[in-house]
This record gives sequence, C-alpha cells and structure tokens, in this order.
Amino acid sequence: MSFDYDLFVIGGGSGGVRAARVAAADAGAKVGMAEESRYGGTCVIRGCVPKKLMVFASTYAPAMKEAAAYGWDVQAGSFDWPSFRVNLENELDRLESVYRKLLKNSGVETYDLRATLAGPNLVRLADGREFTAKTILVATGGWPSVPDIQGAEHAITSNEIFHLNALPKRILIVGGGYIACEFAGILNGLGVDTHLWYRGTQVLRGFDGEARSVIAEGMRARGVTIETETNLAKIVKVLDGVQVTNTQGTIHGFDLVMYATGRAPNSTALGLEALGVGLDQLGAVEVDRFSQTAVPSIYAIGDVTNRVNLTPVAIREGMAFVETALKGNATSVDHSLIPSAVFTQPEYGTIGLSEEDARAQEAIEVYATTFRPMNTAFINDPNQVLMKLIVSKTNRKVLGCHIVADGAGEMIQMAGIAVKMGATKEDFDRVCAVHPTMSEELVTMKSPVRTA
Ligand code: NDP
Repeated sequence: MSFDYDLFVIGGGSGGVRAARVAAADAGAKVGMAEESRYGGTCVIRGCVPKKLMVFASTYAPAMKEAAAYGWDVQAGSFDWPSFRVNLENELDRLESVYRKLLKNSGVETYDLRATLAGPNLVRLADGREFTAKTILVATGGWPSVPDIQGAEHAITSNEIFHLNALPKRILIVGGGYIACEFAGILNGLGVDTHLWYRGTQVLRGFDGEARSVIAEGMRARGVTIETETNLAKIVKVLDGVQVTNTQGTIHGFDLVMYATGRAPNSTALGLEALGVGLDQLGAVEVDRFSQTAVPSIYAIGDVTNRVNLTPVAIREGMAFVETALKGNATSVDHSLIPSAVFTQPEYGTIGLSEEDARAQEAIEVYATTFRPMNTAFINDPNQVLMKLIVSKTNRKVLGCHIVADGAGEMIQMAGIAVKMGATKEDFDRVCAVHPTMSEELVTMKSPVRTA
C-alpha cells in the first residue's frame, strides 16, 4: 500500500520539529507536519525561551544595587514593559521563522492547521483535507490546567503572561511548582508586588528538602511574599482588578491572578481513544519505551506522554523515535539521571536523588554547605548558596547533586556529566578546585554533615 507520507507529525514543538527534520533529512522520509498555533511550541513560544528572557530582564535591578555597592554611580529607574515586549515578540518571531526555515530546508511539508487522527494511518486537517501516512507521530505537548473554582476565568496562566499590555502592580500567583516559583522571581524582579499562595507546606514539592528551604528563603529575602497551606477559593472581578478569597476565608485585592497549577497532556479530541490508543487518568498517551502506542503505526513523544516533561527530553524522544520507526534501529531514551534547572531566583540546578528519596533507597552520606556568595560581599544580602552531594555509603557513588546559586543551571550541566558517568565522591575530590568560585565547594567538602 502506498501512503501520501512516510511520516506525519502532529504538533510543531521542540520534539515534533526535531523528529520531522531528522526523519526527512537523515532518514530520507517524506514527512508532513501540522501545527495549529506557532512553530516552536511551548518551549520557544510560551515557555522556556520567553521565560528565560524575562529572567534576564528581572535581574538588572538587583545587579544595579550591587553595582552601586562596588562604586558605580547607577540606580535602577523603572522597567518599561512595552519596550521589552516588543523586543521579546521580535525575538520569538525570529525563532519561529528559523524553525520554519529548518523544516522547509529539510523537505518537510507543513500545514498551519489543527490535525486529528481519523484512522491508524489517516490524518485529517481542520479544513477537511485528509492524508495517509505509514507512521503518525503525536507530539502535541501540554497545556496549563486550571482548577475549577468560581471566577477562575478571570485568572491568567503562563500562556498569557507574555502578552500583557501592562505589568500588574500587585499579582497573586497560585501554585508552588516550577512555573509559579520562576514567575514569582521574575515579576518580583521587575518591580511587581508579588504574592505566591501554595497549598502545601513548602514550594517545589518533589525536589530536595534542604534546597527547597534555601530557595524559598531566598525568594522571600528578595521580596516575594510566600504563603503556604493557602489556596484560592474564589475570584470576583472588580473595577480595578480582582477580589480573591482564600481557603481561610480572607479576602484580598490584586490587579491580576496567575494560575501555575500544573499542565495537562494535550490529547483531548485528537481521535486517539477511538483508534484504541490508551490514555491514562491524566490524559497522557500511553507508550512503550520506544514511544509506540497500542496502535503500531502511531507513536507519541514529549509532554503529551507525561514522562519527563522537559524540552531536551522531548527532543531525545523524537530522535530515538526516528531511529526506531524509520531507520529500523530500535532505540529507547534513558530517562534516568536527567539534570535540570529551575530558574527561580536564587536558581536551582539538580541531578539525581533528593536526600529524602536517597535515604529511602539506601544508606547515604550527605555533604552540604551553605554560604554567602562572594559577589554580595559589599551589600547586605541575606541570600545563601547551597552546594550539596548525596553519596551512597555502599559504593561511594554520587546519587544526587543539588546547587542553589546564581548560575546553578550552568553548573549542573557540567556536574551532571560526572554524576551520569557514575562518579564517586572520591572522583569529585580528585579534581582540583577552581578558585575562587562557588562550585569549588563541590570538590572540597571533606566530612559528611549527616549520615543516614
Ligand atoms: P508543577 O507540576 O511543577 O507544579 C504545579 C503546582 O500547582 C504544584 O505546586 C501543585 O501543588 C499545585 N497545584 C496543582 N493543582 C492544584 C490545585 N487544584 N490547587 C492549588 N494548587 C495546585 O507544574 P508547573 O505548571 O509549575 O509546570 C509544569 C511542568 O512544566 C513542570 O512539571 C516541568 O516539567 C515543566 N517546566 C519546566 C521548567 C524548567 O525546566 N525550568 C520550567 C517550567 C515548567 P502540589 O505540590 O501540592 O501538587
């Protein structure tokens, strides 16, 4: 049987674009792709990239305070959101055009429309056109999920934050995960009176407990008001913003509420269930380790599968998919020991187990130190740096590395190589310190602070 395409990819985010390009350029496949919004997906258009640019923007005020302490005659004026937004939009337009060009140059045929599955080998576009494909890849990502409370429609999510006409003076962020904590730091840095309400006892659940405390204290020290064990019960629109009621029954006024309460797999109404593709309780597409669904011609990668929801992981899954489905070389992605960064202020870089998870697994030694970073020597800054290694007592391997510090994302990429290679504490110690740096502490911590 002949098909219109060897591969049809639904979703033009990081994972889908990479799979389509590699399939066309390296595997010589005839590839079609549909994207209903903008090429680049969450990461490029409404996630990592614009977020990181906002992180950069938000660090100038404290940098100028620091500069003044070093003798510079400077002070931060006010932040001009409209001019930042124009530059941001121009940069995103540029990146999207790069993505389009890469796809075109690889020979991928693109359709700027929503696509659904009409059969195991049939894709239907929103305008009614249908294409057959030997293999279909679902790479539709995720979407913010918002609790169903009264007035929830008056809140925004991270999708909308980049498009505001003006920055609010006072914002409430609900949630305590990556997005909530990152945007709390950003908006606080841009001069917004920032309040974060989290339903649990400490933000960033799932990460190392000590790191979470240092981050939360650092966020508070920089000006974010964090209230834990507090949730949003009701939002009422008023003339000059919103009036919100929390779960304790107290009423507060804000200009804006942003929900950052998690993301759900974007699998609704794609036609998957009717074909026999399994979806779990959260709507994630069920796949095996080769990203293949229960229907052999249909694969899925990235956030829609809710495995490890990070851009570089989706890209790896896309490349492994091409090896498996188009090159006949069954390849799975190793989802263990993935380093990642949370761009909070202070920043967090992490790989491997938290102290709590490691303790539950085996006997460990904990090496940790907190200190004031040298660059704040001239200013009264209470922020602390944390350098922490979790070491197996049995084989001395470093099971986890946790860094809370400016630049932690850059540091953990490097430390991650050693941890992934199975380095022991003694391997770390054999490396000479780079002085004076913050990360030198990772190779100079002599005695454990705790054993368990
Ligand atoms: P997370 O899952 O990280 O956090 C969701 C937060 O919302 C948690 O604190 C959760 O609380 C809380 N929450 C969930 N439901 C409710 C509710 N009904 N009422 C109140 N609070 C609620 O999701 P994010 O949206 O922050 O991020 C989504 C994903 O995007 C991340 O998991 C990550 O994979 C990715 N991401 C990665 C980034 C990076 O690599 N730097 C940056 C941004 C996003 P609880 O802890 O109690 O469950």
